[in-house]
Amino acid sequence: LALSGCGSSERGAEAGGEGGESAAAGFEDGAKIGVALPQKTSENWVLAESLFNDGLTEAGYEPIVQFANGGVSEQQNQIQAMIQQGVEVLVVGAIDGSQLGSQLKAAKDQGIPVIAYDRLLENTDAVDVYEAFDNFKVGQLQGQALLEGLADRKGEGPYNVELIAGSPDDANSTPFFEGAMDVLQPKIDDGTLVVKSGQTSQQQASTQGWEAENAQNRMDTILSGSYKDAELHGVLSPNDTLARAALTSAKQAGKDVPVITGQDSEVESVKSIMAGVQYSTIYKDTRELVEATIGAVDAYKAGEEPEVTDTESYDNGVKVVPANLLEPVIVTEDNAAEVYAGDPNLEELTK
Ligand code: BGC
Repeated sequence: LALSGCGSSERGAEAGGEGGESAAAGFEDGAKIGVALPQKTSENWVLAESLFNDGLTEAGYEPIVQFANGGVSEQQNQIQAMIQQGVEVLVVGAIDGSQLGSQLKAAKDQGIPVIAYDRLLENTDAVDVYEAFDNFKVGQLQGQALLEGLADRKGEGPYNVELIAGSPDDANSTPFFEGAMDVLQPKIDDGTLVVKSGQTSQQQASTQGWEAENAQNRMDTILSGSYKDAELHGVLSPNDTLARAALTSAKQAGKDVPVITGQDSEVESVKSIMAGVQYSTIYKDTRELVEATIGAVDAYKAGEEPEVTDTESYDNGVKVVPANLLEPVIVTEDNAAEVYAGDPNLEELTK
């Protein structure tokens, strides 16, 4: 995955590119749209299910929305079945974006446009557009928040920190981690940050399946191995679920609350931020992403290509996938009320 990060933005570009082959020839009202979602590893996925069902129905489609809680082979079967049921567009939030090659090829062979939703689909040419928040930016914002939080809450450095990365099968885990390290690596190099466990690679820091238990176990081991006589000042966490797991681990080890980042604006984490415990999260408004994705479906319905903002950053190993990237927002106790104003799930929590 080659990521430029700084993002060559081409607002208003079209996914098919100039003179490019159009993915769709257009289709009728009432068309079936398949939405394959991964496991319920964070609240954003759960929200997406109802938003897709409601939004697609309202826009005049017949949605088929499915989670694959059983794993990759279940998701493969679901996509195969959606194609057999005659969907006109496939929206895929992959568990493992590199394991769907033959199902996506089957879609392409039948002229079904494929939208990668939130997570990139890798090593396939059978993906037409990527709808997501800017993942590299998410990581950069997390890295910056960690540094700010440390300066704010932990006095002068150097600071002892540990790093957590997402699931290795999720294509997003790399841009999240690389974005964060873009900010943190120079501070590790100059001695401001010290990673006492020595685990600084994405592979060492990764959390299989985005499971809280795995992050907590790893943190328990690190704390008993490297922090017997040392404080843990900060933790880079790629999302809220794993942040809460690391906070539990630190608490059980009798440590002071470390400055910790997150992502997803999950209810429990927003409460924790308002209580002065978790330091930051990221707001990726799922309503916006689902709306943009339904906009792409509408474009295919009209026989057009969806609008994209980036035609360079997301090389999936076979092609550069045109991407429509939305802006993530960093949230701390200071701006939470402002950021969540108008969000029915979160607004009340900041009052
Ligand atoms: C999403 C994150 C989420 C993670 C675990 C990622 O692909 O972009 O928002 O925290 O999956 O569900």
